[in-house]
Amino acid sequence: MSFSSLALDKSLTDAIKELGYEIPTPIQQQAIPEILAGKDIMAGAQTGTGKTAAFALPILQQLTKYTDALRPIRALVLTPTRELAQQVYKNFVSYAEYTHLKIAVAYGGVSINPQLSAMEKGVDILIATPGRLLDHIEKGSVDLSQLQTIVFDEADRMLDMGFKNEINRVLARLPSKRQTLLFSATFDDAIFKLSKTLLNDPTLIEVNERNTAATQVEQLVYTVDSDRKREITSYLIGSKNWHQVLIFTRTKQMADALAKEMCKDGIPTQAIHGDKSQGARERVLAEFKQGKTRALVATDVAARGIDIIDLKYVINYELPYVAEDYIHRIGRTGRAGNSGLAISLMSPKEEWLLEAVEKVLDSALLQQWLPGFEPDLTKQNQPTKRSNKGKQQARNKALGIKPKKKRR
Ligand code: AMP
Repeated sequence: MSFSSLALDKSLTDAIKELGYEIPTPIQQQAIPEILAGKDIMAGAQTGTGKTAAFALPILQQLTKYTDALRPIRALVLTPTRELAQQVYKNFVSYAEYTHLKIAVAYGGVSINPQLSAMEKGVDILIATPGRLLDHIEKGSVDLSQLQTIVFDEADRMLDMGFKNEINRVLARLPSKRQTLLFSATFDDAIFKLSKTLLNDPTLIEVNERNTAATQVEQLVYTVDSDRKREITSYLIGSKNWHQVLIFTRTKQMADALAKEMCKDGIPTQAIHGDKSQGARERVLAEFKQGKTRALVATDVAARGIDIIDLKYVINYELPYVAEDYIHRIGRTGRAGNSGLAISLMSPKEEWLLEAVEKVLDSALLQQWLPGFEPDLTKQNQPTKRSNKGKQQARNKALGIKPKKKRR
């Protein structure tokens, strides 16, 4: 299938041609005709599959017919993080280059004023994070009464981050007759529950395989003592002469501490996480992209939306408490058909986290020792077997969920 068979406007096919897109990815092939036909969709597609163009292109196509100067917001894309909002915005702007449509982005952590002036000029398509969108609605700078299409991008993450209330408040402002598109990397009960309230007779689309151009992410697990993880990380990066390595930790404190220590090892490294200002995050990311820093240590939330086409290496310094995050993490590499390597450093005490990841992946990962970094079996680091309750508590702690009080 080619882009021309999707019946897209020339203004759009010209733009994507310039971006080097030749063949629509599976999610694009399946979603674009359905969205153009006005259907609601529920799509299982992780990042790296080309999901953004899968909703952006048909939305732009549908809106090219409107030429009124008033420009009420006709399409809204909700994203969980500002990084993803920026990324989606950039994609929309490049796809819309040869159309007359105006696109704006609104996220928190920065002054609202430039966003207010953008809204005043009129916006056809808005990309926003839920909190800042509500600020705009309350100020009266955003009116969603003419909305035709709403997209929930990375809906699983939005729920994980506790945006349920914000989502409901936004929904209350939307016309009931609208098209709703829900994209999620993973599906669980919470997503299905949300989909029931949101979607009207949706078309289900599931793309198990990542990008058509055969994305290849090699996955390795090194078992290593936790107090030697920094050493093995610096060793791998240094000895193999890797550049642009994205490293994941579970906490902001660990991200900062690791970045500092790696700099001492002679590897220019910076950290990116939610405690940094938007400006600082943008600067850190730009320096990483330009190759000024060799490694970037990120928390799961901060890494969302980081889109570096040729990022080759991802290191899971700590395995995530939420197993699905593993998929998002390794999805940072192997984008758009490039190959990638994802290494997980697992201390013997983290084995239960690997089990959870393997369950989500539905396959076992190869565990090995790196010569010189074998775990010290004489240490008291035998794997801890946790009860399901223990796992649940750790997961809740990681997500900041407080246990429910027992009713008397
Ligand atoms: P996404 O899953 O939307 O984050 O897209 C992943 C990457 O694939 C982005 O860098 C896109 O620019 C790129 N991409 C999207 N669609 C195509 C396509 N049909 N051909 C080649 N690259 C694409």
